[in-house]
Amino acid sequence: ESMNDPGDLRPNEEAVALEPASDATLRFIGTIHTPWRDRKDCPRQGRLDGPECQLVLDPVWHNALAGLEDYDTIEVLYWLDQSRRDLIRQSPRSDGQTFGTFALRSPVRPNPIGTSMVKLVRIEKGALIVRGLDCLDGTPLLDIKPDRCAFSPKAPQKTGNQPIS
Ligand code: SAM
Repeated sequence: ESMNDPGDLRPNEEAVALEPASDATLRFIGTIHTPWRDRKDCPRQGRLDGPECQLVLDPVWHNALAGLEDYDTIEVLYWLDQSRRDLIRQSPRSDGQTFGTFALRSPVRPNPIGTSMVKLVRIEKGALIVRGLDCLDGTPLLDIKPDRCAFSPKAPQKTGNQPIS
């Protein structure tokens, strides 16, 4: 696909020369299944009324889901493995108007981490059924966390966190 070709830039886009990236220090925890096989079919951002998608965890992590059922909304982090990583300026509309990579939520970034807040529909054995994703079928899963707004820390408060009065 053309956006993977390092030579293929839109007007006024800018790339940098990088050593090949190594993903060795991340551990994928599973795979995401979605209805989308081609990037052009993916939504740009997921919607909570989007189609059901499945987060399939590697079996070693199944017990790591205990307690997650208490949350309606969860945060999912994934690895946008098909994207190039060398652009510092990008033209989302292909019209020559560029934005810095860190001013965008484009999948094209030095570390292609995607995040979505999704609706947790149900938990099946080792798999979460969710709505609100925007990634390709087969996208590697990095992490799952409860919605930060619904979450209250389970650990005792640390003195360093007390507000100054
Ligand atoms: N919601 C995430 C975020 O904000 O971090 C990702 C947003 S990104 C704009 C979503 C787009 O990434 C999709 O529309 C699709 O074009 C692209 N994409 C989806 N899965 C991908 C993958 N596995 N590798 C590379 N690009 C992907």
